[in-house]
Amino acid sequence: MPADSSIAPGSAAGRGPAGRTAAAHETAGRAAAGDPATVTCPGCGSVLVPAAPPERPHPGAAPACARLFEVTVRGLRDEADADPGTAAVAQLADDAYDAQHPVADDPTRLRDALDGLARRIAGGAAAEPGAAVGNADAPPGSWRTTIADVAADLDVIDLPVLVESWARTVHQDWTAQRTSAR
Ligand SMILES: [Zn+2]
Repeated sequence: MPADSSIAPGSAAGRGPAGRTAAAHETAGRAAAGDPATVTCPGCGSVLVPAAPPERPHPGAAPACARLFEVTVRGLRDEADADPGTAAVAQLADDAYDAQHPVADDPTRLRDALDGLARRIAGGAAAEPGAAVGNADAPPGSWRTTIADVAADLDVIDLPVLVESWARTVHQDWTAQRTSAR
């Protein structure tokens, strides 16, 4: 009889109730569309309850979304100096977030983000050089995963795993968008 396979690897292992993070608590404010007391992020489309302003506003993002990102990845930033692996995850999170919140007057930021995602996700097999910025003014119309999804799953899945899969879908959404735009 095999061990209970209903428990997914890495699920709630090691996380007691006290392991809930401040980020997870703050994200309780994810809202339903149509609620007048909500904001919709112009970048990723997340519908959020207005929150305290972020310490560092992010161009292309609603303040509540930038705040949610800030709070969610804070632990990564705190550990990044001491751990190269964590620093890489933090960088991946930055790239995914930048790629989901492009601004027309800063194409370099978007190109860097998409290049970073391609390197990490596609193992350096970036699409043709320059392809990433060809349609920088036309990002995907919708996203399968956003920072709100990452934050919502934080109680049960480790953040690095969530960041990895979030970044992967952001990369795929961009890739699909570029393909269909040709
Ligand atoms: Zn957003």
